Amino acid sequence: MNLFKLFILFIIASISDQTMVFAQLITPGVSYELAVSRKKQIKNINYKLFFSIPKLIVDNVQAHETIEFELTQIDKDLIIDFQEDSAHILAVLTNGKYKSYQFFNEHIIIPSKNLKKGKNTVYIKFIAGNASLNRNESYLYTLFVPDKASIVFPCFDQPDLKAIFELELSIPNEWTAISNSKILNETRRDEKLSIKFNKSSLISTYLFAFACGDFKKISKTQNGRTLNFYHRELDTLKIRNNVDTIFSIHFAALDWMEKYTGIPYPYEKLDFVAIPSFQFSGMENVGAIFYRNSRILLSKSATIEDVLKRATTISHEVSHMWFGDLVTMKWFDDVWLKEVYAELLASKMVKPLFPTMNHDLNFVVSNFPRAYQTDGSIGTNPIKQKLDNLKFAGTLYGDIIYYKAPIVMANLEKLIGDNVLQEGLKEYLKVYRFGNASWMDLIMILNKKTQIDLLKWSETWVEQEGMPIISSKIVYNEEGKIDSFTIFQEDALKKGRNWRQSIEVLFCKDGNYKRFPVFIDSSKIEFTRAIGFEQPDFILLNGNGYGYGYFLIDSISQDYLLEHVNDLPDDFVRTISFITLNQALINYRLDSKRFVRIMGCSLKSEKDKQNIQLMLDYLQKSWWYYLNQDERAKMASTIEDCLFDFIKNQQNSEIKSAAYQTLVSIFISDSAKNRFYTIWKNQQGIEGLKLSETDYSTLAIELSLRNYPNSESILNEQLSRIGDEELKRKIEFVIPSVSMDSKVRDKFFESLKNPENRQQEIWVRTSLYYLNHPLRAQYSIKYLHASLEMLEEIQKTGDIFFPKNWLAYTVGRYNSAEAFKIVTDFLKDHPDYNSNLKDKILQLSDMLFRAKNFVDRRDIFGTENPYNDD
Ligand SMILES: [Zn+2]
Repeated sequence: MNLFKLFILFIIASISDQTMVFAQLITPGVSYELAVSRKKQIKNINYKLFFSIPKLIVDNVQAHETIEFELTQIDKDLIIDFQEDSAHILAVLTNGKYKSYQFFNEHIIIPSKNLKKGKNTVYIKFIAGNASLNRNESYLYTLFVPDKASIVFPCFDQPDLKAIFELELSIPNEWTAISNSKILNETRRDEKLSIKFNKSSLISTYLFAFACGDFKKISKTQNGRTLNFYHRELDTLKIRNNVDTIFSIHFAALDWMEKYTGIPYPYEKLDFVAIPSFQFSGMENVGAIFYRNSRILLSKSATIEDVLKRATTISHEVSHMWFGDLVTMKWFDDVWLKEVYAELLASKMVKPLFPTMNHDLNFVVSNFPRAYQTDGSIGTNPIKQKLDNLKFAGTLYGDIIYYKAPIVMANLEKLIGDNVLQEGLKEYLKVYRFGNASWMDLIMILNKKTQIDLLKWSETWVEQEGMPIISSKIVYNEEGKIDSFTIFQEDALKKGRNWRQSIEVLFCKDGNYKRFPVFIDSSKIEFTRAIGFEQPDFILLNGNGYGYGYFLIDSISQDYLLEHVNDLPDDFVRTISFITLNQALINYRLDSKRFVRIMGCSLKSEKDKQNIQLMLDYLQKSWWYYLNQDERAKMASTIEDCLFDFIKNQQNSEIKSAAYQTLVSIFISDSAKNRFYTIWKNQQGIEGLKLSETDYSTLAIELSLRNYPNSESILNEQLSRIGDEELKRKIEFVIPSVSMDSKVRDKFFESLKNPENRQQEIWVRTSLYYLNHPLRAQYSIKYLHASLEMLEEIQKTGDIFFPKNWLAYTVGRYNSAEAFKIVTDFLKDHPDYNSNLKDKILQLSDMLFRAKNFVDRRDIFGTENPYNDD
């Protein structure tokens, strides 16, 4: 035994049990153990915070704070989170006299001997971390979800240690500031404005927020309630065109929530701030919602989807004031809960705002295709996921939370009744207000109000991942009548599970529908009610659209629908047919050329706005990923002409715009290129549709992507045309990613390896979209391995949606055998990779795995579009 080993043995022997536990608690991030232990130890927390914000980005943000809290136990040292370098800590003073502390693994550790039972204070002087301050030239804003408050200031950064915040900001004289509470007072001294805010309510650290800078303010009052809107938009016409709608959606959402929950708006005020290039659509900071500028301030060429998304986003964030803010999850493994309620309630709230819209159809279109896309992949995850450390909380966000969970909840509402659900939610909010609660707390409340075993239901739909494949076998007798009809259920992930759900089988014969509810709970169900019926024109196993799974369509029905889907009189049946056909497409069960033609060229006979948007989405995706280069070249002029005609003959500007945006993203023929060049050059819009600065910038970029002659000068001229400074900076950032010079693109990709160049995540996302565009895929595939290698760091340095977006615009852009090999080799080379991140990779490269599965069955591989090379 050498001396070193002896030394280690000595150390281990001298560590007491308590220290061993302690050592586990102080890993980087907030471990679940630390959170549980602190929740038992600490209560009644109050942060008095001061930040001095300098005008110049290069200068530090000097800060100090006093944390007051009560301790119920002093057998342990106190751990305060601070994800910064130790040099950022300038002084620590415990209970007014003790200066000693340790700094280890992003935690300030206060020795227990300097603490007492009951009330304690810790004063800390520090330099605030910049990483979650989003500092820009003339403004900054915080974004603390899920665990990023402790980057800026030392705190107990876990959702169930709610605290009162007393904030004071010293900012440049001409700036203004917004936080969770109203301004208490303002004083001006030496070119600085000092703003003190009222004491906040009890809020979680991730919901504490402030923004300051050169913002303009608009206020409106309705029924005694005043809301303030802060923005930096210079286009006064845009403001004028949008402002009334933005306010009225907020007022309506607040009224709706108060009525639904029976609880008046729980905070002293509500402001909302439009932030250029904000990372998310919106963030529900208590009393101060932050939005991405472009999500709420719509341009002249807004599509139906934009208009609807704005209403949904606002309603979603407003409902968070109750679900998420007033009652918060205990730990981020339940983050889906606040999201699903915000989504579910938002979908109810927007109904009266769009009285002519088919909302059932909207719900299906908005949620099912996206849920299937992820839940059908081998990397899918349950709605409720495990989380060992808050630093991985960002990996929990994704399509399952945002799209599957609302479907599951809507089904729960159907199962127990909307009144029962509403009553349960009311009770849940009342019992846990200003506190925290878990999914199980809600299930327990609901379980008392219904006969149905919700624990079992939760096990199937919330705690287990994946979806069933539902198929049928129909035997007809000599007279063409149904002899037997068997429905099969199979586990897409081959784990032998069965789902229990009600579906509705739909028969259509000569335009007449017959609907049969069927309860499925096993792998084989004899559907006897169908026996004796004449052979229908087509059958949809998911006839009401609310069944969940991959519904295989029989070949007779598929052929019929490919021929007649546009003539079906019922809007909703067409929606379900489109979704069913798309499921067949992505599983290589139908001819993609036929699918593309229907999506592109039968738009003119589609009357429903939502269906048009769905068809356009499907067109775009199938165009790039389910056709090969030759097929695209052959079909281009047909599809482009269909879209040009559609835009010309369409009266509604939102639909016109939606079709225009799709056309811009898919055109490849020379004549279309020339036509778009002229549109860009003349700046007169297209067929009566006015285009914005953003649209013309996109057009210039898309032309460069297609190697249009003189692209460089087109881009330069476009830059000189742009009046909006923010947009100009974004376009400047994006331009190298579409350069015709591959060396410029290589350099751009290299530059992304420096986290400083990834700060504007929206810009990075757009650039990656172009850099890895299918038109450039053959060249850009060389970035793929490095993009995967960077993922862990992206997760660490980026905001919650960034890992997913990073993957969506890197691996998600490829569908070749080469890409498949890169991804699978990467996973092989990293056997101990973080499992949530690994799942994300598998989810976003689903297209590769489906193609591989298909070609494996046929023993060919290596073509871009395996189906059509069959
Ligand atoms: Zn949300």
